[in-house]
Amino acid sequence: MSIFSAPDFDGHRQVSYFHDSGTGLSAIIAVHDLTLGPALGGCRMYPYANENAALADVLRLSRGMTYKAAMAGVPLGGAKSVIIGNPHTEKTPAMMQAMGRAIEEMGGRYIAGEDIGTNPADMVQFRSQTRYVSCIDVADGGYGDPAPMTALGVFQSIRAAGRHRWGSDTLEGRTVAIQGVGNVGYALAGLIARAGGALIVADTHQPNVDRAVADFGAEVTDPGDILFTEADILAPCAVGAILNDATIPGLRARIVAGAANNQLAEARHGDALRNAGIVYVPDYVANGGGLVSCAAEWYGTDRSRIEPDVLKIEDTVARILVDADQAGIATSTAADRLAREIIAAAKTARGK
Ligand code: NAD
Repeated sequence: MSIFSAPDFDGHRQVSYFHDSGTGLSAIIAVHDLTLGPALGGCRMYPYANENAALADVLRLSRGMTYKAAMAGVPLGGAKSVIIGNPHTEKTPAMMQAMGRAIEEMGGRYIAGEDIGTNPADMVQFRSQTRYVSCIDVADGGYGDPAPMTALGVFQSIRAAGRHRWGSDTLEGRTVAIQGVGNVGYALAGLIARAGGALIVADTHQPNVDRAVADFGAEVTDPGDILFTEADILAPCAVGAILNDATIPGLRARIVAGAANNQLAEARHGDALRNAGIVYVPDYVANGGGLVSCAAEWYGTDRSRIEPDVLKIEDTVARILVDADQAGIATSTAADRLAREIIAAAKTARGK
């Protein structure tokens, strides 16, 4: 399998394959960039169809972490790891310990956290083998679930986009459609309700819908309709690739800002949103609040510093939206450009 010519290869610093025959672990750790600091990124466990699919995912996700850290202003590089396997049927504590040893072998250039298919119990197994783990439960000595800070960053992004689109950041009289009211979507719903905004929610997991209705009086729609519902703002907080050729022509919201990673099916969909007159807040900028929390935990920064740093996402979003308008480019392109500039400037400053 070739790596340097893989479509998602982007000058990654290191791509390492790990296997442990005793536990059946097959994993890839990709370190994209180390300019700003050691590289932090979640560990995903997923039943990839084949190794190429796993490689593509880890290359793409690790690059996204580099950009996310740069935009969130945290001193971290970008990395990610993937374990090939079904987390419901193939995961064992011994396999997670083997993954912990693989993380340890990276010597500190990779710091792991939770992602799809891994959970706090897995982080405990990792930590039995390595100290290079962050985003840990409060009960296990960490700063706890980063979702509330992710939600706060999305909320600030919505405010910045509102000011840009309508000249006002008030949520009163605005309707926000949230796709997915899980950890982040539920916390975001609370912030919007408290700010006077109306909510329409959809989730494939009924208890999460019921919770949003009971706690915030949210209106409910079908998961199949939420993207196209009549609302001012759409907040995708569930899955990726939902902004694509099939969905963009039907979007009614004028602002899209949410927590889900990789919302654009392809980079060109950033242009499609711009052409449709929709203000899109690039996902990795909007959802960087959780990373601010994990970075603070890793560096032992006082918790009181987390929220003020997350609030800065509002200014970053405002800058990207103005940059994009002035350059006549998609907001996603403007964000990528700014992230690369931040990293290049740090490289120059350090003579790297
Ligand atoms: P979660 O699993 O707690 O919530 C996701 C919710 O989406 C669940 O309630 C699920 O039932 C629902 N869902 C799944 N498919 C759906 C569909 N097709 N339509 C409607 N609902 C659907 O996850 P989370 O932690 O809230 O994260 C949400 C998204 O934000 C994910 O894409 C995640 O990668 C991203 N993200 C999360 C964080 C964080 O701090 N948790 C940080 C950055 C990015």
